[in-house]
Amino acid sequence: MTITVAIIGSGPAGFYTADALLNGGCDVQVDIIERLPTPYGLIRGGVAPDHQTTKKVARKYEQTALFNQVRYFGNVEVNKDISLAELREMYDAVVLAVGAPGDRKLTIPGADKGGVHGSAAFVGWYNGHPDFRDLEPDLNTDAAVVIGNGNVALDCARVLVRSREGMAHADIANHAMETIEQAPLTDVYLTGRRGPLEAKFTNVELRELGDLEQAVPIARPEQLPDAVPDDMEARAKRLAERNLASLREYAQNDPASKPKRIHFEFFASPVAILGDERAEAVSFERTEVIDGHAKGTGEFFEIPCGLVIAAIGYRSDPIEGAPFDEKAGIIPNDNGRVDSGLYAVGWIKRGPSGVISSNRPDGVTVAEYICEDFKDSATTSGKAGRDALAPLLAERGVRVVTFDDWKKIEAAEIERAGEDSRPRDKFVSVPEMLKVLDG
Ligand SMILES: Cc1cc2nc3c(=O)[nH]c(=O)nc-3n(C[C@H](O)[C@H](O)[C@H](O)COP(=O)(O)OP(=O)(O)OC[C@H]3O[C@@H](n4cnc5c(N)ncnc54)[C@H](O)[C@@H]3O)c2cc1C
Repeated sequence: MTITVAIIGSGPAGFYTADALLNGGCDVQVDIIERLPTPYGLIRGGVAPDHQTTKKVARKYEQTALFNQVRYFGNVEVNKDISLAELREMYDAVVLAVGAPGDRKLTIPGADKGGVHGSAAFVGWYNGHPDFRDLEPDLNTDAAVVIGNGNVALDCARVLVRSREGMAHADIANHAMETIEQAPLTDVYLTGRRGPLEAKFTNVELRELGDLEQAVPIARPEQLPDAVPDDMEARAKRLAERNLASLREYAQNDPASKPKRIHFEFFASPVAILGDERAEAVSFERTEVIDGHAKGTGEFFEIPCGLVIAAIGYRSDPIEGAPFDEKAGIIPNDNGRVDSGLYAVGWIKRGPSGVISSNRPDGVTVAEYICEDFKDSATTSGKAGRDALAPLLAERGVRVVTFDDWKKIEAAEIERAGEDSRPRDKFVSVPEMLKVLDG
């Protein structure tokens, strides 16, 4: 008997699970339920708009979506249009692949001032995610501070200093490009509590800063160690050596060689955002790194700025009807198993770390569990799956966006970009997207 599976979330984890189920050798019907009309999760709404090569992985997901056994239910939000309990009644197996859409909160004094944004919101804004289109960050400032030393922090810093020409092949949202182009911003400070050896950014992303059209990266030689310690783990050591080599080059750069600068400021722990209503500076305590941990030295300094982006991590939201570990910000699970017939994959399973391909093994494992758990026709309950879901959503007046519908929205975005070299001109609100379908 066919196993009916609902996957909640159409990001990488959801699609890798669908793909693994199709290739798992068992008879499945897979429905992917996504709260937005648009699929692919952070591939569309997180990965930087000037990283189109990375986004190409969506073509592989598209092939998965086009299999006969797969149906896409876009514009359907679990917790709002349908509950998890209802889905568990309708499907043999339900897979939670909802990611970690929110910001880990910056908790220092002043973090609620105007001009302070989390990276999930800021990235969502420049990527045209409907939840964040109205963020309207005020970029009318000459300096910005980005808190964090990971790739997301690098993305934010880089996008802030790019020109329209530099973004000619990117799908940045129009509102963001216009605001960034008009901003008087000249200096972005990329700050980390620890040092260059502990920074989490990958070397490819770090090196990219050396080739920007109107901004130059600047590192401070006195913050760069002479060598990488021998006792570092081999992989971390290789990354640290490459990053150190790039930063040494950046320490030679002439700050006046280009109109804008990205400054690396290591050993800087933020202690407060200063200003009245709006951010006017960030106060930092200088740190030293002891046994891998940042320790305050008692010396303080300030960086004046009108914009602060906290790129300090993401957090998941609970799904009603599923357990949630508030502290870890994940659904507690045993390597993907949550409960009988309920599974978790991707960032909601492991927490918000890792690259796109890190989500693939989660999908493979859960697909194996599902095939195993329902391998005897006796254990499949003959739950109706989409034959129960589709009429219920229709009865509730939910406007389901099919995969064909999404392809129409996508075609309209590509057409809107016209003769431009941009891959698409994104719609940034759900009503705009639905208008394409409903005239
Ligand atoms: C800013 C940023 C940039 C990144 N850049 C890169 C990069 O360049 N290269 C790289 O390899 N990795 C990158 N990553 C990491 C990569 O994006 C993640 O590993 C991956 O997206 C996690 O997949 P996921 O499916 O768990 O979550 P997501 O991609 O977040 O997908 C979750 C999906 O679930 C949907 N959803 C949520 N709640 C509901 C609900 N209640 N009902 C229905 N649907 C729901 C969401 O709308 C979303 O589509 C980046 C991450 C971020 C945050």
